[in-house]
Amino acid sequence: MSRIAYVNGRYVNHRDACVHIEDRGYQLSDAVYEVVTVCEGRVVDRTGHLARLERSLKELRIPMPMSRRVFELVIDQMIRRNRLRNGLVYFQVSRGVAPRDHAFPANIRPSVVMTVKHIDPRIGREKGEKGVKVITYPDKRWLRRDIKTVGLLWNVLAKQAAREAGAYEAFLVDEDGFVTEGSSTNAWIVDEDGNLVTRQADDLILRGITRLAVMELAREQGIEIVERPFTVEELKNARGVFLTSSNSFVMPVVQVDDTVIGNGKPLEMIERLRSLYYAYMQQEQAEKAAGF
Ligand code: PMP
Repeated sequence: MSRIAYVNGRYVNHRDACVHIEDRGYQLSDAVYEVVTVCEGRVVDRTGHLARLERSLKELRIPMPMSRRVFELVIDQMIRRNRLRNGLVYFQVSRGVAPRDHAFPANIRPSVVMTVKHIDPRIGREKGEKGVKVITYPDKRWLRRDIKTVGLLWNVLAKQAAREAGAYEAFLVDEDGFVTEGSSTNAWIVDEDGNLVTRQADDLILRGITRLAVMELAREQGIEIVERPFTVEELKNARGVFLTSSNSFVMPVVQVDDTVIGNGKPLEMIERLRSLYYAYMQQEQAEKAAGF
């Protein structure tokens, strides 16, 4: 079966899908995106992702190209047309196509593209059972990381550094030695008292949808959550470390640079959160982060 992409109102063969060379997403990174997980044919936290898309667009003064309801319909169509059971739907909205000029062009319509990726759910499960290694890497991105723009160059360099070090992810560290987030994930530690610590959702991190869902699940377990920055030292001495994202779900981290975390095995509490998140994804209506 051929893969189908969505481009500005049309479902086309993935191979033939293209936007104009003067699309501002391509020329200026003047675009935002979302990635949603599809679990057994259903979208996880669809409402939260669409709310975040709307917020990113608003911050950049790009009009919402179609209603949330129509976005939902297109996402559903993409799942159906691609017979997607488990994987991801990627969607991107750019300011549109116009002769290159930094300032907003007049009379421009946003471009919308959508693609899917099939993922074998067993791959993540195997990694999640063992835990992964991360490296630390300086955070030199712009200061509005709460907006999910396609301007990901520093994230790309950080992920590549991780890949070259044989690691799964790079945790980004600001000038004062505090961890902000991963190159495409949110970062968490379990402190001495068994509390979860993750950076507060300010302008310096992406407000992860998985982060919100995991917070809800943890609270239901009576686990305390502290939203504050933590240092690399705290990270390396933590009882447990993990990361979250729509791609990685809840992924235990067992090594940071050369430091083994705890006994080198995923902490039991993180294991529990990981299975709770799996159970949550299987639900008919997985919508914990709807209140984004
Ligand atoms: N931070 C960054 C920089 C990311 O790119 C992502 C993935 N989109 C996340 C955090 C995690 O966000 P989410 O849980 O919404 O996938």
